Amino acid sequence: MILFKKENSLQQWIDAQQRKGVKVGFVPTMGALHPGHISLIESSRKDNNITVSSIFINPTQFNDPKDFEKYPVTIEKDIWQLELAGCDILFLPKVDEIYPNGIAPTQYYDLGELETLLEGKFRPGHYQGVCQVVHRLLKIVQPDNLYLGQKDYQQCMVIFRLVELMGINDKIHINICPTLRETDGLAMSSRNMRLSEAERGKAVLIFQSLSYIKDNLVAGETDTIKNKAIAMLSDEGFRVDYIEIADAKTLETVSNWDGKKKLVALAAAFLNEVRLIDNLLLN
Ligand code: AMP
Repeated sequence: MILFKKENSLQQWIDAQQRKGVKVGFVPTMGALHPGHISLIESSRKDNNITVSSIFINPTQFNDPKDFEKYPVTIEKDIWQLELAGCDILFLPKVDEIYPNGIAPTQYYDLGELETLLEGKFRPGHYQGVCQVVHRLLKIVQPDNLYLGQKDYQQCMVIFRLVELMGINDKIHINICPTLRETDGLAMSSRNMRLSEAERGKAVLIFQSLSYIKDNLVAGETDTIKNKAIAMLSDEGFRVDYIEIADAKTLETVSNWDGKKKLVALAAAFLNEVRLIDNLLLN
């Protein structure tokens, strides 16, 4: 694996490869890698000649400064995992390489309701920061294929919108990869490293509450099962930001289901200091 820290040298290298006609797959991450991230690398390796990954803890997407300070950093281990997975290129830029003119936003991304619903509502400014960094990274890497995890369902929708706004939706193919889970069902996440043993024991309840919705969903009103799922978490000491049953295409809340529309259940909840999210397609 070749490690690049500078935008220019990475771009030159990729340019030279693309002139030879190779296909480039890209897996952006914030590091603290786990098998979920590695599954994206594996998908990219299947479809492309070259797989580029990036590790950059993007300061502009953290609405909570404590979350940014405490974000886990395991760079040596990450490099080793990427090597083992057969990743070709790692882009590891410093903040001033991504934001040479400072981190203040220079552009507003019109994300419509995605910015006021669910994560958008509970993490103001978060998706503007996500767009700011992904816009930069896509301009540098110019991949043919981009790999994202369904774990961040709403973020996937935001990035579909971003590539439209950038006018590159016909040049780049976005691949959404399934959520990898621990054996008990907990969605793998870098933030799981911050859980105490007792919290880790409880964390699986998020998956169980979403599974409860999936198992009990019937046409008609959905609030009763949603409220039961919320109670499953709050009774065990979680601070629930939301559990919602939503249209899988638009993320609009569905409180009366026609029995046909594709639905997704999404959850975000704090266990003490650590905020976890998860989602499940319901039908
Ligand atoms: P992050 O490092 O958390 O920004 O995640 C980088 C990429 O990995 C994003 O596209 C995530 O959706 C994806 N990802 C995170 N966790 C998982 C998981 N458990 N399974 C599959 N993909 C994941």
